[in-house]
Amino acid sequence: MKMNEKRILVTGGAGFLGSHLCEVLLARGDEVICLDNFYTGNKRNIYHLIQNPRFELLRHDVTFPLYIEVDEIYNLACPASPIHYQRDPVQTTKTSVHGAINMLGLAKRTGAKIFQASTSEVYGDPEVHPQPEDYWGRVNPIGPRSCYDEGKRCAETLFFDYHRQHRMDIRVARIFNTYGPRMDVNDGRVVSNFICQALRGDPITIYGDGKQTRSFCYVDDLIDGLVRFMDLDPSNPGPVNIGNPGEFEMLELAEAVLEITGSRSQLVFKDLPVDDPKQRRPDLTRANTLFGWQPTTELKHGLTKTIAYFDALLSGSLNATP
Ligand code: NAD
Ligand code: UDP
Ligand code: UDP
Repeated sequence: MKMNEKRILVTGGAGFLGSHLCEVLLARGDEVICLDNFYTGNKRNIYHLIQNPRFELLRHDVTFPLYIEVDEIYNLACPASPIHYQRDPVQTTKTSVHGAINMLGLAKRTGAKIFQASTSEVYGDPEVHPQPEDYWGRVNPIGPRSCYDEGKRCAETLFFDYHRQHRMDIRVARIFNTYGPRMDVNDGRVVSNFICQALRGDPITIYGDGKQTRSFCYVDDLIDGLVRFMDLDPSNPGPVNIGNPGEFEMLELAEAVLEITGSRSQLVFKDLPVDDPKQRRPDLTRANTLFGWQPTTELKHGLTKTIAYFDALLSGSLNATP
């Protein structure tokens, strides 16, 4: 390892966001330890990195202690799609809470700077719109989404208590809905569902009346924001919203996907899941003021790149050699 190289641990590194983050850190010359238990992650996402001598893959579950030497930690391990985080809700809470304790303990012992991938879900079904970081949120503590929302809220509490109690350098980012290549075909979130349904000619599943809104950020913008926040000096713990302010109804998203794919899929309406937030849009003032960040990818442009990825994946022409 060279003098100015950093050894960075990325938990959840074989997932959608984690794999893009590993790639960016390797490209700038860091040594990366990618940790994953493959609950929703996939070796295909990191296959192209395996032969890089600065890349190391560690199969491990963050709910168990980990003793290694690192300079920085990005804690991303946690299933992020409702169908996956609700499959084993107790494990989801354990991953956020025990995972945070273990990674904070590791950061405390090694003196590492540590980043937490928090979420816009800490705002729940919000009455304040758009959502600034000082809004405390409206989360149901006992519903089917609580394992994720409350787990992430408790992880934020732990990060700020370790920061105050042990003077640790922490960074907490609240990530809003992000999409792009390497989402899993069976991920279950709306962008990958609509794209795969359109490409296969299957019905597009709209939950509820499709009037609920989300703001979608393209993955490259998101990772750029996370890394800039982590590198910020003087340090600032956050929390900082990272996302895209463009707000769309699910019906508008479906229309955009149908237009770009040229698909003739029909829309079918299904029940709205319990506690599904009605609206969501980030207030990005803080990210912009602190580190001059704002997303640059328009939804249609990002969707076009994501559709090209899924088209190659579904037709079997995606190159997956290292
Ligand atoms: P993902 O499901 O693709 O990735 C999560 C990764 O964590 C997977 O590789 C999974 O195998 C791994 N993992 C899960 N439990 C683990 C455990 N106990 N030990 C070790 N690894 C474990 O999801 P993603 O979209 O890449 O999300 C990454 C992080 O970003 C998550 O923490 C998520 O909550 C957060 N986030 C994502 C979004 C988004 O829109 N993508 C929005 C807000 C927050
Ligand atoms: N821990 C870890 N790796 C380390 C140091 C700690 O996984 O290098 C875990 C360990 O399980 C511990 C937790 O992090 O229980 C919290 O550590 P901390 O030092 O805050 O508390 P304590 O060791 O007193 O429980
Ligand atoms: N959704 C939908 N059809 C799908 C999947 C999701 O209409 O096939 C809706 C879902 O009800 C929600 C929005 O799309 O209102 C975003 O859902 P996702 O699971 O992607 O993210 P989250 O609800 O966690 O923001």
